[in-house]
Amino acid sequence: MPELPEVETIRRSLMPHLVGRRVTAVQAREIKLRAGIESASWRRVEGQRLEQILRRGKYLIALFGDTAAVFHLGMSGRLTLALHDAPRAPHTHLVLRLESGRELHFVDPRRFGMAIVMDAAELGASPPLAKLGADPLGETAVVSLRGAAARTRVSIRDLLLDQTVLAGMGNIYANEALSRASISPFRPACKLGARRIGGLAAAIREVLLDALEAGGTTLTDGGYVDAIGEAGTFAVNLAVYGREGQTCARCGGTIRRVMLSGRSAYSCPTCQR
Ligand SMILES: [Zn+2]
Repeated sequence: MPELPEVETIRRSLMPHLVGRRVTAVQAREIKLRAGIESASWRRVEGQRLEQILRRGKYLIALFGDTAAVFHLGMSGRLTLALHDAPRAPHTHLVLRLESGRELHFVDPRRFGMAIVMDAAELGASPPLAKLGADPLGETAVVSLRGAAARTRVSIRDLLLDQTVLAGMGNIYANEALSRASISPFRPACKLGARRIGGLAAAIREVLLDALEAGGTTLTDGGYVDAIGEAGTFAVNLAVYGREGQTCARCGGTIRRVMLSGRSAYSCPTCQR
């Protein structure tokens, strides 16, 4: 699933091709995604100029004057740029044709994604975005994390996945940040003092910025690529994620994978406490 670095990389790869361009035609398949694509509402962007692409957590927001399109890539969603006569990938649910002759395709085989249109004025108060927490790269991240951690006994790994606390984290970077901060993913959040939470917030920022610089993480199963088909190269830098049984580079211990709330937690039990 794309997380903040992948979604931000996609945003940056889309910007030069989309910003300032007019949408000349929209083809939307009425389909049931996490929020269904409604072809009638997508018609609102026809003839509109795309002014800006923003990211909020793992959501991408395309602004067309007073209309906004909100995308979430879910498990398998992709936003890709294509020439208008290029063959369409299976599961292409939405096509925005631009005056430049290019097209933006929203492709989502597993259908956990979202592609909705709303009034731009409603963005902040509407369900997908209203409850999102602080951006992990923003100045308020540490305050948000410290406040939420103090109030809950859930594991710190699960707290990092809670989008109402920090918006944009997923399982890869939650595990990697905990590794960098030498914190066990199983620790109840409220048992971590302010100093360790401060260290964790710094580790989160560091790992996200490193991953962003590498264009995100493309795992060996393929999966994520940016809007022009480039894979990210951060996978070689993963310290624990997907590395069960391997040796911890920091202490020589053995990395373990344990299921936690239905999702894999990767850690080195020797140096993460
Ligand atoms: Zn270790």
